[in-house]
Amino acid sequence: VVRIEGLHKSFGHLEVVKGVDLDVHRGEVVVVFGRSGSGKSTVLRCVNFIEDPTEGSIEVAGIRLGGGHRTRRKREQIRQLRLHVGMVFQQFNLFPNMTVLDNVTCAPRMAGKGSETEIAQRAKDLLDRVGLADKAREHPARLSGGQQQRVAIARALAMEPDVMLFDEPTSALDPELTGEVLSVMKTLSTEMHMTMMVVTHEMGFAREVADRMAFFHEGRILEEGPPSELIASPRYAETRAFLEAVL
Ligand code: ATP
Ligand code: MG
Repeated sequence: VVRIEGLHKSFGHLEVVKGVDLDVHRGEVVVVFGRSGSGKSTVLRCVNFIEDPTEGSIEVAGIRLGGGHRTRRKREQIRQLRLHVGMVFQQFNLFPNMTVLDNVTCAPRMAGKGSETEIAQRAKDLLDRVGLADKAREHPARLSGGQQQRVAIARALAMEPDVMLFDEPTSALDPELTGEVLSVMKTLSTEMHMTMMVVTHEMGFAREVADRMAFFHEGRILEEGPPSELIASPRYAETRAFLEAVL
């Protein structure tokens, strides 16, 4: 579903992504981890073209795009590509003045994804799936952080993406609230077979849910493998040191 090829990204003279290749296949969960500043968020943001690659290409759902100027044609292709990608950030970024239900129905309504009844029904199903059916009429401010993040997940799913990107979805939460968000993410994988790319340092989640893990170090993937191998027997001292710090 996602193919990242030869990705480089510089901000001015600072090269923060230095040649990343990574595929995420349909139904796969890939966990990305590594030190602060190693380029994890930048890579994720390039997949969605929040950032444009400096070099290399991104392919999502058969749409392949590189760096270079945003011509009119490219802007249209980016718009197409984004229809296939859902993203959840550390900060939930819900619309504060809308109800939970409106947060979830807003994007599909704008995109004309079905009739009003269909959109509302799908939103209710999604809220049910994330365990918030009873909060549809609330405003985000009245919800806990964990509940807000679950709304953000439902909102991203409402566009029926082919892949979901998560950038440290639980790191802004109180520890007792991370479990409910991780468990929703787990069911997305096990029940919906959602393709996911997840930046997280929750190694319990990675061990249980990830098909593969990629350790980022200084803008590159230093090593990659199934969690059973990568967590139990990392090949590089950098990976080992990092794992010791987070486990
Ligand atoms: P963290 O774990 O702290 O979230 P990260 O691995 O996600 O780190 P990135 O956010 O991708 O790291 O940042 C990599 C580097 O790029 C950092 O040095 C950061 O300061 C720099 N950087 C990121 N975005 C920009 C930007 N828009 N302009 C300039 N520098 C940036
Ligand atoms: Mg980051």
